[in-house]
Amino acid sequence: MSVPHYSLYINGEWVDTGENYEIRSPATEELVATVAKGGVTQVDQAVAAAKAAHEEGTWRRTPPAQRAALLNDVATRLGGRIDELAALQTRENGATIRITGALHIGLSIAQMQYLADQAATYEFETAGPEIGPVPAEGLVRREPLGVVAAIVPWNIPLLVIVWKIAPALAAGNTVVLKPDEHAPLVALELAKEFEAAGLPPGVLNVVTGDGEPTGAHLSGHPDVRKVAFTGSTAVGKSILRQSADTVKRVTLELGGKGPNIILDSADLDTAIDGALFAALANNGQACEAGTRLLIPSSNRDEIVSRLVERARTLKVGDPLDPATGVGPIISKVQHQRILDYFAIAETEGAKAVIGGGVPSGPGFDKGYWIEPTIFVGVTNDARIAREEVFGPVLVVLTYDSVEEAIKIANDTDYGLSAGVWGDEEKAIEIARELDAGMVWINDWHVIHPAYPFGGFKQSGLGREGGPHALDEYTEAKFISLNRSPGPEARAFAIVIDPV
Ligand code: NAD
Repeated sequence: MSVPHYSLYINGEWVDTGENYEIRSPATEELVATVAKGGVTQVDQAVAAAKAAHEEGTWRRTPPAQRAALLNDVATRLGGRIDELAALQTRENGATIRITGALHIGLSIAQMQYLADQAATYEFETAGPEIGPVPAEGLVRREPLGVVAAIVPWNIPLLVIVWKIAPALAAGNTVVLKPDEHAPLVALELAKEFEAAGLPPGVLNVVTGDGEPTGAHLSGHPDVRKVAFTGSTAVGKSILRQSADTVKRVTLELGGKGPNIILDSADLDTAIDGALFAALANNGQACEAGTRLLIPSSNRDEIVSRLVERARTLKVGDPLDPATGVGPIISKVQHQRILDYFAIAETEGAKAVIGGGVPSGPGFDKGYWIEPTIFVGVTNDARIAREEVFGPVLVVLTYDSVEEAIKIANDTDYGLSAGVWGDEEKAIEIARELDAGMVWINDWHVIHPAYPFGGFKQSGLGREGGPHALDEYTEAKFISLNRSPGPEARAFAIVIDPV
């Protein structure tokens, strides 16, 4: 059976390169599609096209309401394809069909609509107060930056793409998007919709390619004014270093090791389901996952045995089956990385109370599978408690007082997400003390277009979505106009005497 082929999108043209990626389902290893593989030549072409489109100016001079209308048009087009795109996303990266429909595609559409609305009301030009003693008037304009590079991972591709390219385009920038080499298909479907909606050539370009050299060439390109990146903390740091040479603007959404605190007052049925959801959603491959569960030592045994009992009921398997809770790992490399962490955990004295290996039996002979795993028996200084595993793995830690729970929660290099289960008043008090960009009380993974997403500490720089999203893609420009008739009332009079 023939599989679809995808080309790169550069300057309004669909381009092949003579070399292809094979995109295979991580659940079955079957071939889903072939995709042209881009390299530094295509990055150079795409950046040149984006720069020329910016300089030519049609898009940045398009009234914001029209830019917003185009984004809304694309959102509507995606809305007509939710089931199809959700299935494609599941086949491409193995995220379960329930989550690709609601989160990957559904939330991305809502986010695009929200950003379109924001573009329509954003103050691109604001008159300020009169500038005395000189009789001058002031304006603040928010100008687009120019060429924005968006570099994204494979785990929740469409949402992280929309977080970047929707505010970038809404603000009048031009974009070069580099999707991850494991999951570029939905990104290229998105480009097709932008083309169909009439986005001018060169305004959005999509180049696939490996992190090295393609991603690095894009993020370091002298004509790129901003890099918006989601991915690992290690690559985020290299992009930040690289950006120094040309003082690029940078937004980073990086890793996490989310602490999830169950209080004595928590309803355990809800908190246990919530703890599993926090750790395992998206097959445990979510940067905002709750991967450290902090429980009161006084109730340790009951909570651990109920967690295990509940985890046993989860269906692991075919991600296209709506009954499945946990699907496969994206690739052989990530799979091995998780198994390496299991070996590390063992040397640290951790005990897997459930999982800790690879499932066997029908349905697991192909693809990359890891059992949902819960470790106990380590403290917060163990590597398994400090480093991001990026798989369906939860580490249980105990605390003796709420103060200790907060201390353990904040004792991490990361600061993306955190959560508290229990009495609301106490939970809010604790939330105020947690060093995290998102704190969820009695829930997890609550992401909403109107609220910012991003991290403290080494989890990132800047925020995506939320009410200030366009600020991250514009530069403030102060224009002052002196209206005085003669030479006297001017700033230069401080130094130069009027003749
Ligand atoms: P990764 O950093 O290896 O890759 C992400 C993207 O960067 C890919 O497109 C890749 O090709 C590209 N890339 C790789 N090396 C590069 C380089 N030197 N220069 C420029 N681009 C380069 O990450 P991954 O393994 O694909 O994803 C898993 C990691 O991403 C996890 O650590 C996870 O926490 C993090 N992540 C964070 C968020 C967030 O919103 N904070 C979301 C998803 C994933």
